This record gives sequence, C-alpha cells and structure tokens, in this order.
Amino acid sequence: MKILVLNCGSSSLKYQLIDMDNQDVMAVGLCERIGIDGRLKHTPKGKDSFVSEDAMKDHTDAVQMVINALLDKEHGVISDVSEINAVGHRVVHGGEYFSKSVVINDEVIKAIEACIDLAPLHNPANLIGIRACEKLMPGIPQVAVFDTAFHQTMPEKAYLYAIPYELYEKHKIRKYGFHGTSHKYVSQRAVKMLGKDASELKVITCHLGNGGSICAVDGGKSVDTSMGFTPLEGLVMGTRCGDMDPAVVSFLMEKENMTNKDVDNLMNKKSGVLGLSGVSSDFRDLESAANDGNKRAKIALDSFHYRVAKYIGEYYAALGGADAIVFTAGLGENSKTSRKAVCDYLKCFGIEIDDDKNSIRGKEIDIASESSKVRVLVIPTNEELMIARDTKELLDK
Ligand code: AMP
Repeated sequence: MKILVLNCGSSSLKYQLIDMDNQDVMAVGLCERIGIDGRLKHTPKGKDSFVSEDAMKDHTDAVQMVINALLDKEHGVISDVSEINAVGHRVVHGGEYFSKSVVINDEVIKAIEACIDLAPLHNPANLIGIRACEKLMPGIPQVAVFDTAFHQTMPEKAYLYAIPYELYEKHKIRKYGFHGTSHKYVSQRAVKMLGKDASELKVITCHLGNGGSICAVDGGKSVDTSMGFTPLEGLVMGTRCGDMDPAVVSFLMEKENMTNKDVDNLMNKKSGVLGLSGVSSDFRDLESAANDGNKRAKIALDSFHYRVAKYIGEYYAALGGADAIVFTAGLGENSKTSRKAVCDYLKCFGIEIDDDKNSIRGKEIDIASESSKVRVLVIPTNEELMIARDTKELLDK
C-alpha cells in the first residue's frame, strides 16, 4: 500500500511517498514559496535530487507538481496516480473534536474549519491541501492526522486554565498541546526499546527542535504536555518565549504602545533564544557563539536547558516517577551538549548519562549509564511514518 504523506504550511508543502508494505520511503520532497514564485525539490530514493522552479500560484499547483514529479519518467517512482492508495495529511489543530486520526469526509472538513480560530496560520493551509487533493486525485481516500489528537487524553486538571470556567465552555480556551504525532511515535518506540508493555511504562518525551514541547506519557497516553492553547506556551524556543507572567502582555501594550498583534508577533517571532541572545534562533549558531565567549548566547542556552529540566522535574512528580526520558527532534537528536546540560540537573532523580554513548548520533540509543535509575533514550522522530501508519490502519479497517 503506497501512501502519500502531505504536510501543508502557509507557503510550503512537504511530502513523502511511503510504501507501507515494507515502510520504504520511495521519494521525499518540498515545495516552497507557494504563491510567491515556487520551488520544488524532489528526491527519489537512491537517486539525485531534482529541482524545478516552475511557478506555483497556489497549493493546487503545488500538489499537481508533486504528482508530476512522482510520475516523471526520469525522477518519478510510480507510473500512474492510481498507484497512490491514500493520502495522509498532517493537520495541526483538531480542537476537542478529534482524539485520533480520521478518514476525511464533509463532516471532518467542517470540524477542521471550526478549529481555524485556534490555529489561524495552520488549519487553513491544511484545508487547502485537502481540497487540492480532492480535486486532483478524486476518489483516493484521505486521512487527517492531528497534532493535538494524542493529547486529548489529558485530564481536566492538566488541560484547564484557572480562568472563569464559562470561558472554557464558550471559547474552548484550554491546553491542547502539539507535536502529538512525534510524542506518540517516540513514546511507542521507547516501549519497544525497553521491551515492556506500554501499560507498564511512564515516559517523559522531549521534542526539542526550533519549536519544542515535553509530554508526560503514562501507559501509552499523554497526561500532560508543555504547549498549550497555542504552541507558544511551555519551553523557551527558537523564537517563542514559552511560559511567562501573562501580565507582561498588557504591560507591554501600555508601555510600548503595542497592539495585541504586535505583542503576539513579539512573543512568537522575536523572543525565545533569539530574543535573549540577539544572535540567532538556531541552536547550532548559539552553541558556537557561546563557545566563542558570547555571554548572551550562553544565557539563552542556560535558560533553555533550565526550563527543559524544570518541565522534566514537574512531569516526574506528576507521573509519580518515570521509566525513561526520551530526547528527539533537531536538537534532542543531535546535540550532546544540550542533553548533557539538561541531564546534569536531573542527578537528584538518580538520572545519569554515559558520555561515550551520548556522543553517538543519528540512531536509537539508550545513553543512560548502567547505574542510572531512569533510562535516557535518544530516538529520531518520524512523524511521516506515523501519519502513514495511521492512514494505513484506517484504510485496513
Ligand atoms: P527541528 O525544528 O526539529 O528541525 O530542529 C531544528 C533545530 O535543531 C535548529 O535550531 C538546529 O540548530 C538544531 N540542531 C540540529 N542539529 C544540531 C546539532 N548537531 N547541534 C545542535 N543543534 C542542532
């Protein structure tokens, strides 16, 4: 069964064609600058990449170019569009409507539309991608896989904010959590690596990339997570501030004569390690600036590690202990210095890493020392595979 996985952003579209009979990635690609000019990079398995700069005026054009690339005589990997058995879409916000992936129909589309207020940048792009596929691949089943779905198992005490309850009822203001597909994938891999049943395990998963979130997983279910109503809450991120006193918002509006949009932009795009350091939102740049003696880059990294460690401590208490901590995503998978800096805070829990194992990159590995009371796992995330799996599972039903 061949599944096309699509991740539509406002001006971009990432894709993978996965043969689920053997989990073989047949091609990967990225369309960028949709609606501006257009650029497609398509990489068939085992071959060189192919780049096209043909114009893409909208997502329908982009999906058409993806289909053309997949069918191309030289760079293609299939000979007819009917070889694609289904399309799996990453959809950012499923609100309280979806606690798992679903086959897309009119009702599902209406519910995704109803969540636009909660994810104004992402859900419209996801819907455009779904409509483009309906038009260009009529009759091919489509599945929506939501970033929020995995966290729908959180109990009320974790997801409610302490504002008047009526506002939760009226506007659905609550914690939703994001990166759910990644947290689910790595927590399931952790269960496999530890060779136990999911129901027996408590795992804290740390998705640390440009955006970051931490999740407490008990018996295979998310019971708390650091992102909230939007992906702004929680950790110090590349450009997002994460947790701070909400009173800062009205203070800034008054003192800096800012509008709510200005503050929103500042907290989402100009804050985090970028705002603190003034150097970059990219953690590699920060590590090298800190090594060169840049004080603010060091403060930014220290704040980031400190916040990650605090969340792990919080979830250790919430779960009543943990069997494993998992690091994943760009930084979690690749930065041994960040993993070490975070784990240094956790020695009070009997958590200890082995420096030699911590230096190994790019594969699933347990980096805890023999005597550590908690396993520390590095697991490369694979959201596309998770989306393809959910899609296949729904079609098999
Ligand atoms: P992601 O959003 O998951 O793609 O992660 C992107 C972030 O991971 C960027 O800030 C990168 O700087 C960071 N990253 C990737 N590789 C490394 C590395 N080897 N060392 C430190 N940070 C890295």
